Amino acid sequence: MKRTLMRPGGLPESASTPVVTPIMPSVVYASETPDRLDDQYEGRTEGYTYAREGHPNADVLARRIDAMEAAPQPGLVLGSGMAAVTAVLLGLCKAGDHVVGGDQLYGRSLRMMRDDLPRLGIDTTLADPTDVTAVAAALQPNTRLVLIEVVSNPTLRIADIDGIAELCREKGVLLVVDNTFTTPRAVQPFALGADVVLHSVTKLLAGHSDVTLGWVAARDASLSKAIYDFAVTTGLTPSPFDCWLAERGLMSFDLRFDRAEATAARLADHLAAQPMVKRVLYPTRPDHPDRARAQGVLQGRGCNMVSFELDGGRDAANAFTKGADQIAFAPTLGDVGTTLSHPASSSHRALTPEGREKLGMTEGFFRVSVGLEDPDALIAAFDAGLAAVAATK
Ligand SMILES: *Cc1c(COP(=O)(O)O)cnc(C)c1O
Repeated sequence: MKRTLMRPGGLPESASTPVVTPIMPSVVYASETPDRLDDQYEGRTEGYTYAREGHPNADVLARRIDAMEAAPQPGLVLGSGMAAVTAVLLGLCKAGDHVVGGDQLYGRSLRMMRDDLPRLGIDTTLADPTDVTAVAAALQPNTRLVLIEVVSNPTLRIADIDGIAELCREKGVLLVVDNTFTTPRAVQPFALGADVVLHSVTKLLAGHSDVTLGWVAARDASLSKAIYDFAVTTGLTPSPFDCWLAERGLMSFDLRFDRAEATAARLADHLAAQPMVKRVLYPTRPDHPDRARAQGVLQGRGCNMVSFELDGGRDAANAFTKGADQIAFAPTLGDVGTTLSHPASSSHRALTPEGREKLGMTEGFFRVSVGLEDPDALIAAFDAGLAAVAATK
C-alpha cells in the first residue's frame, strides 16, 4: 500500500473547467514560502490565507451582488443580515456618536437602536423616514449616520430617500440603506445617494429559506475597510456552503422577483374587493398612502409584499390563519413559498396595542410575502381564509 501524507493537495487535471462554482470549504491556505506569504499580506499578490478573513465562495457571491447593486467598492458577504447591520453600526461608529434610525426598521435593527448602541455609548433617535423634516429634526452635531429601509415593515410606507439623501449630504452624515425588502430590482440606493447599502441575503436574494447571509458595500474604500476589519475581527464570517447555496438561488432572482410581484399585485386587488378586508397596502395601488413617491422611488414596481387588515380583530385573525392553512403562517419573507405574518403576535409584540395602532397595525393586520405559487391556487387559499372569517360572523 502506497502511503500519502494527510494533505497531499492537488485536484485531478482537467483541460475543461466546471460551469458551476466549486464549494471550497478550506479554512486555511498553504503558501509556498515565507516570501510568498509576505507578498500576499503586503498586497503584491492576490490570495486567501484564512477563511475568517475571506474565502472564494463568499467573494464569488459578493461580486454578483456588487454588480446588481452597482456598488462603487467591492462588497462583503457576512453570516446574516444582522451581521451586516452590526458590522456597519459598530464598524463605523464610536462611543459619543449619535445614530438616527427609521422608526419602522426591521425588529432586531430597532432593538440594536434601542438597547445595544446606547449600552455602548452611542446615542440613537428614531424618526419617521417618510417625513424628511422629522429626520432633519432628529439630527445632532454628533450624528454619524442615518439608517433607513426604503419600504417599511409591515406597513409598506415609502421613505423619502431623495430628501434624506440630500439632507445627509448637506450635513455630512452617512446614509445607510437596508435594501432587503426592495432589492436592486426595484431600488439601487447608491444611485440615489446612499453611502452604505446592506441586505439580508437570507430573504429575496437567496430566496429559498435555507441560508442566513448578509451583504454590505460602501461608497468609499475607507468605509469598506472599517466594515471589513470589524467583521473579520468579530468573526461575522459566512459559511462557504451557505454562500454556494445563495449563489445558486441568485441565478433565478430576477425571474422569482418578477413572478412574485405580478402575483402580489393581483392578490392585493383581489383582497381589496373582499367585504371582510378593511384595507390593503400595496405600493402600486391608487389608495396607497405614499403612491406618488412609491412610483418614483420604486420605478413603477410594487415588489412582493402585500399587507392587509381584516375586520374583526384577533378573532378574525385566528379564523383566517386556520382557514388559510395552505399558506405558511411564519415570520419571514422572500421565500419561494408565500408566507403570512401577524405583526401583533410576532415582530411587533413588544409594542403596546396603542403603539401598534399608531403605526397602523391592529389585531386584524397581516403582512404577506408572496411566493411563486400558481396565482389562482394562491388566491383560492386566501379565499379559504376569508370564508373561515365570514363563518365566525
Ligand atoms: C430579515 C431582515 C434583516 C436581518 O436579516 P437576517 O439575515 O435574518 O439576520 C435585516 N433587515 C431586514 C429588512 C430584514 O427583513
